Amino acid sequence: MKDDLVLVTGAGGFIGGSLVADLRQKGYRKIRAVDVKPFDEWYQQFPDVENLSLDLNLIQNCEIAAKGAHDIYNLAANMGGMGFIERNKALCMLSVLINTHMLQAAQKYGVQRYFYSSSACVYNGDKQRDPNNPGLKEEDAYPALAEDGYGWEKLFSERMCRHFREDFGLYTRVARFHNVYGPHGTWDGGREKAPAAICRKVIAAKRSARHDIDIWGTGNQTRSFMYIDDCLKGIQLIMDSNILEPINLGSSEMVSINQLVDMVEEIGGVKLKRTYDLDAPKGVTGRNSDNTLIKKYLKWEPNIPLRDGLEKTYAWIQEQFIAREENSASFAAHINK
Ligand code: NAD
Repeated sequence: MKDDLVLVTGAGGFIGGSLVADLRQKGYRKIRAVDVKPFDEWYQQFPDVENLSLDLNLIQNCEIAAKGAHDIYNLAANMGGMGFIERNKALCMLSVLINTHMLQAAQKYGVQRYFYSSSACVYNGDKQRDPNNPGLKEEDAYPALAEDGYGWEKLFSERMCRHFREDFGLYTRVARFHNVYGPHGTWDGGREKAPAAICRKVIAAKRSARHDIDIWGTGNQTRSFMYIDDCLKGIQLIMDSNILEPINLGSSEMVSINQLVDMVEEIGGVKLKRTYDLDAPKGVTGRNSDNTLIKKYLKWEPNIPLRDGLEKTYAWIQEQFIAREENSASFAAHINK
């Protein structure tokens, strides 16, 4: 098994890069890592892995990527926090090309197993109007009223995986990730999600004289956040399982955005003045993961406490933040010489 070729797409991104690192650690010797980004923009890259920079919107590139692979983990997508997905619906929908072409390539080359990363954004918006959301069950995706753009693409691609399994016998497994966070992910630039954005804002406030923070929405909207290590464990368990239908992979520790800010402030050792931007993209009012099904199938659910994961994430973002400050200071000194 560990000598079989494993393909990870989206490997220059957060979860894909972390999965490559995890597979290497588990002893997989033949890993192919693919992403459209140039190599210098990958969060993690390993010299003993076959790294390819390819645009997987194109079927010929999917074929190059899939050829010879035993397993495919398809994590490539146009992705971001609410600010990105609300403003880039067409781009998010275009990720349909990636999954469709990857499935076709997988079928053509006789790939044995295929994993697809779906999202909690497939769930019906009407079930997410209450901040005390008890948790979204898998059946709550239908009748469909997914997140416009990004969520509809995920829902369609889930179904595409199902039909390739039913009609063509391809082994497909689908997990619906709920907000994943951790080191080696997007923390700046507009695609970052709430935990990384709040860590960055707290770090920036601490390092400047301005002890304030802007929060998108009222701060009362609720979410759950899954630490990357739980995500990686879940991906493997689901890939190896007999779970044929899309299943939640998320934490059930629900917090409000204000509570998330409380935790990050505590880690940073500061208290900031909060201003609420009610016009900013804020997403649904309440979202949590109902883990009844995953517990039934796997006798496990993501369980790393948010506070623990945030500490590691904060420390990593702080390192990046300081490194960037130092780079721009030395660049400015060079220019002013
Ligand atoms: P990410 O943005 O860090 O990684 C996605 C990667 O896909 C990027 O590096 C991007 O360059 C690559 N990509 C995009 N278009 C491509 C193309 N045409 N060809 C090749 N590569 C391409 O995002 P992530 O957080 O690592 O997410 C991984 C997967 O998990 C995505 O499918 C995402 O939709 C899903 N997901 C993530 C979360 C989360 O909270 N991070 C939640 C739900 C679902």
